Amino acid sequence: MPITPFHFGPGALFKCATPENFSWAVFAFANVLIDLEPILLFILTGDPAHPWLHTAPGAIAVAIVAATAGRWPCEWLLGWWNRQLSQKQKQWLGTQVVIGNIAAWTGAFVGTASHILLDGVMHADVRPFWPFLQGNPMQGLVSIEQLQWACVLAGVLGLTLLAIMKRKS
Ligand SMILES: [Zn+2]
Repeated sequence: MPITPFHFGPGALFKCATPENFSWAVFAFANVLIDLEPILLFILTGDPAHPWLHTAPGAIAVAIVAATAGRWPCEWLLGWWNRQLSQKQKQWLGTQVVIGNIAAWTGAFVGTASHILLDGVMHADVRPFWPFLQGNPMQGLVSIEQLQWACVLAGVLGLTLLAIMKRKS
């Protein structure tokens, strides 16, 4: 997608499904990392293409980097976020800083897998199932507007559910 944050919406729903075993921070990091491909190619060639990382092996490679090297910057960012909050704000917006192994790996793999599937709907040159399947069977399954609205609604629903869960805990 041209704007990576659309991908963050479905991540909120995944976080609701299994809060202790899924890092939304690593999920977001993996989504940003994989989109360095079209950004760099746009800077270098003028074409925001998706030739390598937006494939099954590329997504696995990015997930491994995100789950290992991405964990420390994510924990630092979560710690920084908590320090910006007052005691009252922490009750609602505070988050756990330490990211466990399972949460890191789940966030990273769900991040890149969902990313190439969603991008596959939108971009003709994404090959989410390469090398097992050539081409892109995802392309045009729904319109770009429907896809973006689905991501936004997933984010709103996910954040609402997370707030309710936080209040109950
Ligand atoms: Zn992308």
